[in-house]
Amino acid sequence: MTAIMSFDNRQNDATSVADSWFDATPEHLQRRFSGSTQQQLMIHLKDGLQPESCVNFSSNDYLGLRFHPDVTTAAITAIGHWGLGSGSSRMVAADDPTFHLLEQELAAWKGYQSGLLVGSGMLANIGLIQALADRSTHIFADKLNHASLIDGMRLSTAHVHRYPHLDIDKLEALLIKHPAQRRMIVSDGVFSMDGDYCAIDRLIQLAERYQTLLLIDDAHGIGVMGTIDETCGARGLTENYGGHPQLIEVGTFGKAFGGYGAFILGSDRLMHGIRQRMRTMIYSTAMPLAMAAAMRESLKLIQQSDLSKQLHQNIRLFKSLTQGLPKMDSDSPIQPLMAGDENAALSYSRKLREMGFYVPAIRPPTVPKGTSRLRITLCANHEASHIHGLADALKQLTRETTA
Ligand SMILES: *Cc1c(COP(=O)(O)O)cnc(C)c1O
Repeated sequence: MTAIMSFDNRQNDATSVADSWFDATPEHLQRRFSGSTQQQLMIHLKDGLQPESCVNFSSNDYLGLRFHPDVTTAAITAIGHWGLGSGSSRMVAADDPTFHLLEQELAAWKGYQSGLLVGSGMLANIGLIQALADRSTHIFADKLNHASLIDGMRLSTAHVHRYPHLDIDKLEALLIKHPAQRRMIVSDGVFSMDGDYCAIDRLIQLAERYQTLLLIDDAHGIGVMGTIDETCGARGLTENYGGHPQLIEVGTFGKAFGGYGAFILGSDRLMHGIRQRMRTMIYSTAMPLAMAAAMRESLKLIQQSDLSKQLHQNIRLFKSLTQGLPKMDSDSPIQPLMAGDENAALSYSRKLREMGFYVPAIRPPTVPKGTSRLRITLCANHEASHIHGLADALKQLTRETTA
């Protein structure tokens, strides 16, 4: 019989191999997992600082839908009927009609022929770019694109040309310089750390002129940006281009929808090809049915549009109260305040925390060196008093540092 090795008869160096695997990260650059619970707008933190409860200005749940009773009730009811997990990949046994309904509703709302649900935005982008591109493909990508797009490009083995953030002229120069049979332009819609957004009209023009695909990941724009009226709600940056034959779009449920998961929208033929090839969908367990059922309710609430209107009122109020502060220009719910180096951003964040406002410091490598910032996010359910309070606190902080 072979002996089973236990921890007690391991070789001398067995632990030091693991313990010395990573270089020690300097204290001020370490990511923290100190634990928190969230209740509506409040976040309760057990990090040793006071007060324990703060107003949360860091959530991407821009419309407050994750606590909406229509959404949570739909999920609870679905769990009662169909259980929690979906048990397998959709390709095996979990291709429930609820998934198809949600895909059709999303596609119809945004004007596309076809939709496909995926486990998360990270999985959507990694799998999608891998499915679309190979070593003969040339991809033209904004330098500040989300990590999931960057990882998808890496896995795809395509040639990647990165253009400076939002610099459409540089993008065009690259397109002229690198002709190829199969080319794609890839960009975030609303950029998650800056709150600015791609020039969608010009990207569509370039895609047409140079015969490329255009992939837009509008995770932060859908439900938030675009015309808000009784018939449609905020459909995101691509609202005028849904169904354009060269456009593929990724959206997520983790932000304005208040859930978890993602979707891809495009033409019938393109989506058919993607379904055949998309490894992160084929080889991954289908999203819980309860999530799909809940996201159908979120979609209805987004279409009714009052929440998006309320969100934009809050954005306008915050912008008017913070004029003159070192803010990045943004009319999305992402309202960054520039700090410069990591320590300044951390100090701002900590002082706000002590004043009862939770706003995380965003540092390299998430953003370029020297551009550490506070990433303030606004939600529809912030009250005017919360926004006035935060604006006053920010004025006090920036006055202290410049004095
Ligand atoms: C949040 C985000 C993702 C990742 O989505 P998850 O569902 O959270 O994995 C992808 N792209 C962009 C632009 C995002 O902001």
